[in-house]
Formats: sequence, C-alpha cells, structure tokens
Amino acid sequence: MRRKLAAGNWKMNGLGAGLSEVAALKAAHPAPGVDVLLCPPATLLARMSEVAGDTIATGGQDCHDAKNGAHTGDISAAMLADAGASHVILGHSERRQDHDETDNDVRQKAKAVMAAGLIAVICVGESLDEREHANTLQIIGGQLAGSIPDAATAANLVVAYEPIWAIGTGKIPTLDQIGEVHDFIRDTLERRFGPGVGRSTRILYGGSVKPSNATEIFAVSNVDGALVGGASLKAADFSPIITALEQA
Ligand code: PEP
Repeated sequence: MRRKLAAGNWKMNGLGAGLSEVAALKAAHPAPGVDVLLCPPATLLARMSEVAGDTIATGGQDCHDAKNGAHTGDISAAMLADAGASHVILGHSERRQDHDETDNDVRQKAKAVMAAGLIAVICVGESLDEREHANTLQIIGGQLAGSIPDAATAANLVVAYEPIWAIGTGKIPTLDQIGEVHDFIRDTLERRFGPGVGRSTRILYGGSVKPSNATEIFAVSNVDGALVGGASLKAADFSPIITALEQA
C-alpha cells in the first residue's frame, strides 16, 4: 500500500506572515488521511516546522551534496533536517534551468539527502519541445537513470513527474499522457530496484494541479499524489486538493 502524498512547493514565496496559511491548513486537516508536506523557502523552514507540528511534514527545496564546508550560500541536508525537514525536493526543473543542475548533480544531492535520513523528492519532466519532437519516455527514462542513486528505497525516495510546460502555465497533459508516464516510471523503478521497491515507491504528478482538476488527476493509475506549486500557497486552494486526494 502506498500512502498518498500531497506536497506543496512554495518556491521563492512566503514571509513570516504566510505561516498563518499553515495554521489554517492544519486546522482544516487536523488528522489528514494522506501525508501532507510543505516545502517553504529555507528562511521559513524552522518556523514552519514548529507551526506544522506532527500534522504537516516540511521539506527543503534543494540542498548541497556536501555535509558542510566552504560553500557560501548553500545548505546541507543535515541543516535542513536540523530545521525540521523530513523531505528535500531535488532536480526541480527551475533548479535544472536556473542553476544548470544536471542529472549527476541531482544524484549526488539525493545521496546526501538519503545519507542524512531524509526523503528525496526527485523531479523529472520533459520540455514542450521534447514532448513535441522527441520521445518523452526516453527523456524521462534518462532522467530517472541519471538522477536516482542506487541507495534509493521506497522509504527514502519519492518521484515527481513534472512536465516543464505544465508548471505554472495552467496547462496539463491529457490524463492518458499522465498515465503513460506514471506507468513507465513505475515499470522503470520495478526493473531497476525490483518489484518490492518499485511497487511501493510513490510517484507524484506536478504541473498546474488545482482544486478544479485534482480529482481527475488523482484517478489516473500510478498517481500517488501531487507536487503543487502555486495552489499550495493558500490553505483555501491546497485544502480541497488534500481532500480530493483523501477521497481518491
Ligand atoms: C511546481 O513548481 O512544482 C509546480 C508544480 O508548480 P505549479 O503547481 O504552480 O504548476
């Protein structure tokens, strides 16, 4: 049984005042029937973790692959854990684009996250050009092979399929396209890690998930939840997505 996961990525959004949204979310879901995770900017992580308590997990949006050292401006997995994080998003397309992160970078970071006892939420996804002119599954297969370390287990890995062209655009793939990629990711995990790990690892869909489309997306095979950007910032938007996942 895979426990479903509603994950929110606040990206570079949120000041202290925004923590009232976390309190509101907690009040709306005092005992959620799915795992709920919020990944705020690092500046808010410790404060958010206190507000979130045991009801909502918190995570980082990236980390360095070293434990510590002379890396000005960077944050290690152990530091995120110290601030209350249980998860770290890695390889988000905005990091791959803005910071030229490669699959190899993501894999090294994932190793560090797993070694620190945290869960890596590894993002993969094709660009619009790749969707239109290349073999999407081949692209996703290459990213999975390059980004996921051998140390992955169902307990320390979550995969998020995030087509780049669906992030923040209001466009989503067809449900068949989502299902095709999620089935492919499941098969790929089973082939590499064996059926036990492959079948137990959670696979999230991300890209313009909203209260209005969550139910249909959560009905697609091998969709175990969502990684949500914009709609995770306000409890009024994220709460119905959590409810839709609870009912899926
Ligand atoms: C994301 O950035 O991971 C994301 C899915 O964003 P949005 O939900 O805003 O499309």
